[in-house]
Amino acid sequence: MTKQCKACGKAFQSHPKVPTQTYCSSPKCQRERRRRWLEEKRQVDADYQGNEPQKIEQWRNDHPDR
Ligand SMILES: [Zn+2]
Repeated sequence: MTKQCKACGKAFQSHPKVPTQTYCSSPKCQRERRRRWLEEKRQVDADYQGNEPQKIEQWRNDHPDR
């Protein structure tokens, strides 16, 4: 199935087993996908932690690779 990459806007073939794929396989776009996913995850974690800035900061310190 042909899809349009969310990052670069180019058409790409999504994997038949991954119909939700919205980014092409270019490393740059995969990085972008990961970055956006983590941003989303941070939001969720922030909500989970009750939006306490100190705890969010602590979480970031504990996960420097994210
Ligand atoms: Zn792309």
